[in-house]
Order: sequence, then C-alpha cells, then structure tokens
Amino acid sequence: MAMQLYDNWERSLRPFTPIHQDWVGLYCCGPTVYDYAHIGNLRTYLFEDVLRRALELNGYNVRHVVNITDVGHLVSDGDDGEDKMEKGSRRTGQTAWEIAEKYTVAFKEDVQRLNILEPKIWCKATDHIVEQIDFISVIEEKGYTYRTSDGIYFDTSKQDDYGYLARLNREGLEAGKRVEIGEKKNPTDFALWKFSPEGSTRQMEWDSPWGRGFPGWHIECSAMSAKYLEPWFDIHCGGEDHIAIHHSNEIAQNQACHGTRLANFWMHGYFLQIDAGKMSKSSGDFLRLQTLIDDNIDPLAYRWLCLSAHYRSQLNFSWESLKASQTGLNRLRETYFNLPSGGSINQDYADRFKAEIDQDLNLPKAIAVMWEMLKSNVNDADKKTTLDYFDLMLGLNLKVWEPKKTEIPAHILELVEQRKIARQNKVWAESDRLRDAIKAAGFEVEDTPAGMVVKAVS
Ligand code: AMP
Ligand code: ZN
Repeated sequence: MAMQLYDNWERSLRPFTPIHQDWVGLYCCGPTVYDYAHIGNLRTYLFEDVLRRALELNGYNVRHVVNITDVGHLVSDGDDGEDKMEKGSRRTGQTAWEIAEKYTVAFKEDVQRLNILEPKIWCKATDHIVEQIDFISVIEEKGYTYRTSDGIYFDTSKQDDYGYLARLNREGLEAGKRVEIGEKKNPTDFALWKFSPEGSTRQMEWDSPWGRGFPGWHIECSAMSAKYLEPWFDIHCGGEDHIAIHHSNEIAQNQACHGTRLANFWMHGYFLQIDAGKMSKSSGDFLRLQTLIDDNIDPLAYRWLCLSAHYRSQLNFSWESLKASQTGLNRLRETYFNLPSGGSINQDYADRFKAEIDQDLNLPKAIAVMWEMLKSNVNDADKKTTLDYFDLMLGLNLKVWEPKKTEIPAHILELVEQRKIARQNKVWAESDRLRDAIKAAGFEVEDTPAGMVVKAVS
C-alpha cells in the first residue's frame, strides 16, 4: 500500500505517488544564518529527516534540497524591517558575510550531531541572485508586479486563490486594511526586490534591472527549487509558521511564473513549545543544541525526544522529559549492545513497524511496536537484526554505541573469573558470595545472552 502523507494543501491524508519514476523531489526551507539554530528549529529538521528516511525505506531515491537564507529575510513580516543578516552583523561586529559563514558551519555541525542525513544539495540565496532576478523578470512580464519607492512588489490581488494554503480570509484582511501598509496596494503584497536605501551602501547588494538592491526572502525558494527540482516537484516542507506567509508567497510566485503550486504535497512540522509559548530566536528561552550538550545531554537524546511525539502535534519542552529521554535511550542502547549478532529480520514486526511509519510517519506507534518486539519471544539475535532495520528510520546509530569503558581492576577481574568457574561447577552459593564481593567493591556482573558483562555501578 502507498504511504499516506498529510498534505496541508488539501488538509487531508493522501496516498503518496511520485511525480517522476526514478526520483522524489523534497525541498525543505533552511535556516536563516544570522544566529545559531535553536532546538525548536532543529525539531523541524528532525521531522524532515524522518520523512526522508521513510521515503528511502520505501525505496525512493530522494533528491533532498535545503536552502541557506543568507540575505533578504527581514526582521518583520511587513517588508519594512531591517535585514536579519545586517542586524546580526551589528550585534556581533562581524560582516554579514562572516556571520553567514559562521552560522552555516554551526548549523551543519548540529545537523551532524543529530544524525540528520545531509541533503543532496545545499544552496545559498547569495549564490543564486541571477536565478532570482530571472524569476522576478518573468513575473514582471506576466503583469504581477508594481514598483514603490523601496522596491518591486508582488500584487496578490491578481490571483483569486492567493493564500489558499493558509485558507486565508482575504475579505477579513481587506477590512483590516487600515493597518499601516505604506505604499503597498494590498496588505498581503510582498517584496520581490528591495532597493538599497538611498545614499547608503548595504553589505550585501547587487545590480538588477530595477536598481541596486537585494532579493525579497520568498523568491529564493521559488528560484532554487525550480532550478534543482523543477517548478513542479513532490514535497515541500517547513515549520508551521511558514504556512501563512512564506509558503503562501512561494506558491503565488510559482503560480505567476510557471502556473504550478510548486509541490504536490505541503508538509509542516509543528512547533516545539517552551512553557506553552513558541521558542523563537528573539525570545529569552533560546536553547541551542550546545546548551543541552553542556548539560551532559547526548544530542541523540534530543532526537529521541522528538521522535516520541508526532510531527503534527506541538511538543512542550522540559528538562525532565529530556532527561527521561536520555535514560530511555541509554536503556535501548544497552539492550541493543547486549544482544547477540547474526540473526535475521523478524518480518512480522518489521511490517507492523513500517505500516505505522507509512501512516503519516506515526513514530510514536512505531516505537511502541519496537518495545513490544523487544519484550516478545523473538529470539535474541533476530531482535538485534530487527532493531538494525528499525534504526534505519530512528537514526539513533545503535550500531556504533559502546558502553563507556571503565578500567576494571585486575583483582575484580580475578573475582569475576573465580565466579565463572564456580558457575561452571554449579557451586551457586560460592557464585553468589563472589557476586556480592564484586558489588561491595563497586562493580556489577550481569549475565547477558552475549556472555558475562562487568561494569562499574553507576
Ligand atoms: P529560520 O532559521 O528562522 O528561518 O527557521 C528555520 C526553520 O525552523 C523553519 O522551518 C521554521 O518554520 C522552523 N521553526 C522556527 N521556530 C520553531 C519552533 N519553535 N519549533 C519548530 N520549528 C521552528
Ligand atoms: Zn522557503
């Protein structure tokens, strides 16, 4: 049966069938690199990673593209604020180009630490100015633009279905038009190209047919997705906040230029909340992955926490739940480590697990199937191999984990050896006495299916 994915365009689950036979196009809106990513941002990339892994589990060859927004994303949605990059530059005293580089490197490091699969293509807005100018030129030729004193704008009144993705109430917006819209003709109109302010030079600016300036934020995604995936591709993702403005505007641009709504499926990751409010780069609750690491949390414990909630529900962050995730992950890793190798996949459990994934990435239910498998009477070697299969989706890198090596002193190893002999000779009282002696010295012996394991008592 085909995967069922929730498409926000239709607002329903739909069977997924790819546009092309041999590849699936997946475009994910990437970071604005004026600051570090917070763990809320990273939740969205984790959802997209799960989606990609699910597509690959279904045998699709995924052309995964992520953009880097390094120009044009303004502080306010109203097209009149400062460019976030220039603001970041003032904050740090470095140039906009330097901070773009710095936070791109930091972002890619977070991606690696969370074991998020690298996209096949990373693309930067500033590397695609020509493509964006060409895109705007076509929109202009088709009659969708107008000029104000500060830029070239998209006239949303030219499209009857503008804002359909967000089920936008245009009448309501028109009625509220008294809000300051400056020279814009409609409240929903947005900048395609902004002019550099009169008499000053921006750090990032380019010549264009309309004057020196820089692209609006939304045009980069239309131009780069068209370049790398064609103007009509399979799945477009981002966080839920993008539905109303950024994605609605990307669709308007493509509709005008190519007559498509970009993507067949529109999927959105729901927010990580903190104290019931959204985590944002401007709020005080700015938690980076590094903040968690500094608190001795393994980045994969954060991954595990995110996997435990469905991507279409908001997740409330707390340190307690994160620490519980760390404990749960450690337990899973130890279980995996202690299972013997050489088994085969248990097909019943594998099928049940995949059926949950194929039902709109239902990770919480898939994980419940995993725990059930571990408690079942499936033989131990098969359990390990089935876990390997599950980990293709979970991305916890179970295979490479090893318990922390503590030096076991020679006299303890001697006691362990004596206990082994006592057990072979079935002298149980002596075996128990030796176990107690080992424990009194701060160590523990466990008899696992893979043999005897000695570790320090934690
Ligand atoms: P930005 O770097 O601000 O452009 O955002 C990068 C991605 O993170 C976008 O897809 C946003 O929709 C998403 N995002 C922003 N805040 C959150 C949050 N609190 N939880 C989940 N995703 C978020
Ligand atoms: Zn985008």
